[in-house]
Amino acid sequence: MLLRDAHNRIIRDLRVSLTDRCNFRCFYCLPNGEPPLTRKDTILTFEEIEYVCEIFVSLGIEKIRLTGGEPLLRRDIEVLIGKLARLKVQSPMFNVQCHSETSNSKFQNEKPNPKLKDLALTTNGHTFPRRAENLKRAGLDRVTISLDSLQRERFKEITGVDALENVLQSIEAAKRFDLTPVKINCVLVRGRNEDEIVDFARFARETDVKMRFIEFMPLDSGHDWTRESIVSAREIRETINEVYPLRLKEKSRGAETAWRYEFADGAAGEIGIVAPVTEMFCGACSRIRLTADGQIRTCLFSTVEHNLRDVVRGGASRAETVEFIESVVLKKEARHSINDAEFSPASRSMSFIGG
Ligand code: SAM
Repeated sequence: MLLRDAHNRIIRDLRVSLTDRCNFRCFYCLPNGEPPLTRKDTILTFEEIEYVCEIFVSLGIEKIRLTGGEPLLRRDIEVLIGKLARLKVQSPMFNVQCHSETSNSKFQNEKPNPKLKDLALTTNGHTFPRRAENLKRAGLDRVTISLDSLQRERFKEITGVDALENVLQSIEAAKRFDLTPVKINCVLVRGRNEDEIVDFARFARETDVKMRFIEFMPLDSGHDWTRESIVSAREIRETINEVYPLRLKEKSRGAETAWRYEFADGAAGEIGIVAPVTEMFCGACSRIRLTADGQIRTCLFSTVEHNLRDVVRGGASRAETVEFIESVVLKKEARHSINDAEFSPASRSMSFIGG
């Protein structure tokens, strides 16, 4: 019943990209002008996304994160969120499966009840303040907002858009409409923003958010990534510790991507460090991704994709679709190969894959 890969990892976390379009041009993601966009007819419809997400949930997926590109550019995203939020009650196919398998009601009660537990969104925050209330009303649980600089000019240099104020308002809106805990993603790149590490830590304390510092990964469409441009987890930890001593929250990361720290002096906020390059966490990976055009990716760095869209559009039955998904999960890579001499970057950048 659960999705388990060939390395005995259970897959619980699905990231769904809703569009490859983005209104920011972050230099570490989509630096070069207008990229070729995926043809509209290849993008999964809301009905298709709902259908496959329901199947994923029936197979044990507990968390769905909507991402992109910029997911808020997908028109009527609130409608999709409303559809997916229904999966938090119960997988609609659950009763059908139970009744067809046995009429013994005691046995039915003992079966696991597959439900979505967490519906989240990652956004650049540009239009979020005016959308937050409707997103919450539609059934969104929480939000992660990207923010790579607290300085207006630098923010503009990094993203190509003068929108720091909108993003700060997004954080307030997320709190106001209880889309919490609010997480902030900050990609650190040497020479660009590592001098703001302590400022961000202070920001986390003052605004009571969960800061997530993320190591720069070779997923930029400009292929400018170099090992020297990474600001390592160790450096991030040490820099914050000198000013605001940190205490590890839990000894194990579990399936989380981040090591999580609290402030030793009891201040509000949390620091998370996501270090896919220098402290690889593939052994505990529970994630799988679905691109906007319906390709399953078993790893951010996969060089192959698996065409779920054609399976669904080709008229496969539900059982055949389940079989396809299970067979793809079995192909999930044991680990990424960023640190291997023969590493070759994924065919698509983060904005296409869905971060
Ligand atoms: N548009 C949304 C946003 O800005 O959050 C969602 C998509 S974005 C691709 C998701 C996350 O991926 C962002 O937090 C972004 O900073 C991160 N990201 C993009 N390119 C990256 C890279 N090369 N290395 C590390 N993180 C990256």
